[in-house]
Amino acid sequence: MKIKLHDKYFTPFVSAKEIDVALDKMAAKMADDLGDEIPVFIGVLNGSFMMVSDFVKKYPKPCEVSFVKLASYEGVESTEDIQHLIGLSEDVSGRTVVILEDIIDTGNTLESIYDIFGGKGTKDLRIATLFHKPEAYRKDLKIDYIGIEIPNKFIVGYGLDYNGLGRDLPEVYQIKNTQHMTNIVLFGKPGAGKGTQAEFLKTKYNLVHISTGDVFRFNMKNDTELGKLAKSFIHEGQLVPDSVTIDMLQAEVEKNTDANGFIFDGFPRTAAQAKALDVFLESKNMELSGTVALEANDEVLIERLLERGKVSGRADDQDETKIRNRFDEYNEKTAPLIDFYTTQEKFHSVNGIGSIADITGRLSAVIDLLNVKA
Ligand code: AMP
Repeated sequence: MKIKLHDKYFTPFVSAKEIDVALDKMAAKMADDLGDEIPVFIGVLNGSFMMVSDFVKKYPKPCEVSFVKLASYEGVESTEDIQHLIGLSEDVSGRTVVILEDIIDTGNTLESIYDIFGGKGTKDLRIATLFHKPEAYRKDLKIDYIGIEIPNKFIVGYGLDYNGLGRDLPEVYQIKNTQHMTNIVLFGKPGAGKGTQAEFLKTKYNLVHISTGDVFRFNMKNDTELGKLAKSFIHEGQLVPDSVTIDMLQAEVEKNTDANGFIFDGFPRTAAQAKALDVFLESKNMELSGTVALEANDEVLIERLLERGKVSGRADDQDETKIRNRFDEYNEKTAPLIDFYTTQEKFHSVNGIGSIADITGRLSAVIDLLNVKA
């Protein structure tokens, strides 16, 4: 589950179990390397407190444990960043010292600590870290023991914090860098008014409107391969196969990568499409803000569609059997998505009966609320 710390969201990244396994391995390897030496483990606060606590419990031989903290001198009028250690009371001369870090990224902190210990006459000075970011590391210092290598992402948990929060978490989370977009799915049976409302909403919120039905119709009109493929399904009031529709939707999103957000109208219509949409958006650092269903009863919708069919000439709007078939498709394949999005706390519905302006007002109220929460 995603968590929120201050203003940012984080998603699970390294489990408590994976941490445990990594520490087991490090402890075993180190014990092997150090033989009968009794090491002095030096944890670097604040971040390392959890790691040190768990690590020393796993270390199978006698050891000493101490903590240091790196601090800049205060009140010194110097532009140089002079750092010193707080907390080291032990005499470490002639001893085997292992610096225990929770994470090493650029290596700046590590280098300062290593330099300070370098002047203390240790017999052997080693470095161990639970997490290491090879892409961020800028130093030549050899790191003797690495638990888990991670990409250059901001992480919290297991001692690591974001502005003070998150140190207490037993597992590690990574920051979720989703873009600030308004991405809305408009649900509703054929005739519910999705297309009409999308036209108003796209102007009001400066969004790109993607109607999969419109894209199919455009392709049919231009007799493209995609159009030929979709034609038979659409004319019978059946859904076009998922693989075709999903690829097409993704291509439409890719064409508008600098958009403020999207209104998805008529997509997703199946569970497979909904899952594919989540995966695809995540790969783009995007996510759905929410989904809104326009509710109206079947008899009202049939009347509306038959009227529309007279004007638009859409074959699938002129035949009541085909219309009912589209409703059946909706009930069978699309309605289950209500549960899917309710679980994600992303499902909303509004009354789709009334004047166009009233319905736009109802939809806007939902979207405004989603934008406030984002
Ligand atoms: P619409 O204009 O949204 O009512 O769509 C018209 C027709 O296009 C539908 O009845 C389907 O045959 C096809 N279609 C539109 N969107 C999808 C979708 N997401 N999945 C499968 N078929 C779709």
